[in-house]
Amino acid sequence: MMRDEPRTPIAGATDVYVGLNFGTLVPRRFIDIWGISELRRIDVRDGQLVIGGLTTYTDAIRSPHVAARLPMLIDAARQVGGPQIQNRGTIAGNIANASPAGDSLPVLLAADATVVVRNFAGERRVPFSQFFTGYRATALRPDELIVAIEVPPVQGRQWFRKVGTRAAQAISKIVIAGVRGPAPRLALGSVAPTVVRARETERLLGMDAIDDAVAALAAEIHPIDDLRSTANYRQRVAMNLLRRFWRDTA
Ligand SMILES: Cc1cc2nc3c(=O)[nH]c(=O)nc-3n(C[C@H](O)[C@H](O)[C@H](O)COP(=O)(O)OP(=O)(O)OC[C@H]3O[C@@H](n4cnc5c(N)ncnc54)[C@H](O)[C@@H]3O)c2cc1C
Repeated sequence: MMRDEPRTPIAGATDVYVGLNFGTLVPRRFIDIWGISELRRIDVRDGQLVIGGLTTYTDAIRSPHVAARLPMLIDAARQVGGPQIQNRGTIAGNIANASPAGDSLPVLLAADATVVVRNFAGERRVPFSQFFTGYRATALRPDELIVAIEVPPVQGRQWFRKVGTRAAQAISKIVIAGVRGPAPRLALGSVAPTVVRARETERLLGMDAIDDAVAALAAEIHPIDDLRSTANYRQRVAMNLLRRFWRDTA
């Protein structure tokens, strides 16, 4: 069906309904993929954590594989919406929706994940760092579905924080995921048109130069003023969170 006439997939519909209600999503033809049960598995295959394309936040929270390999995803999933949203909302939907505030995105970027997409012709793998091509724009083609997210082993201590107006049911003002290992990693959401890796900051963290890393971070992120926060506030919070990440994982 997707081959003859691309349709907008609906997974948990938690973003799609909001888009239709607020008029930001033009009504078109949809295809409900919620029933494709084989996309709801979480496995370890060839040494990688494989998160199926219909995995919900609740599925991730309950998965021993995720707990063992990617605990920062559980921290993020627990802070998404409330239990209703966690039961319906999918991680692939969070990715395809491509909001720079999506809570799972910094986690997957810091974990060097790969997005597995498929259409009738076959499958391709897109590194997470290349998946977002601009504000709310992705490398996903109209006839493709996200069928899985692959996560290689992550070495080091994982850390996640979301700062919002309140803990639950709030879109983040800033969201940050870090890994403190041999090569530190840092990814942030709500600070630029897409989720970003702070590569220079990571390099300085690798030398344990926290003051320089904090200064570098200020140059690497480009937050904006919007309804939820100001650019200045986001910049300061990001710098404070970086210090906290380094302290907490020492
Ligand atoms: C009250 C409320 C609170 C929320 N709180 C948060 C929050 O705290 N943090 C947060 O990040 N988000 C939050 N959200 C947003 C939303 O719940 C998440 O983005 C969720 O992960 C979307 O998943 P879904 O399965 O519902 O996507 P859907 O609404 O079904 O789809 C979203 C988009 O992704 C596309 N899509 C879905 N699945 C696939 C697939 N497998 N392949 C290709 N395209 C696909 C759809 O076509 C659509 O464009 C909230 C939403 C609501 C309504």
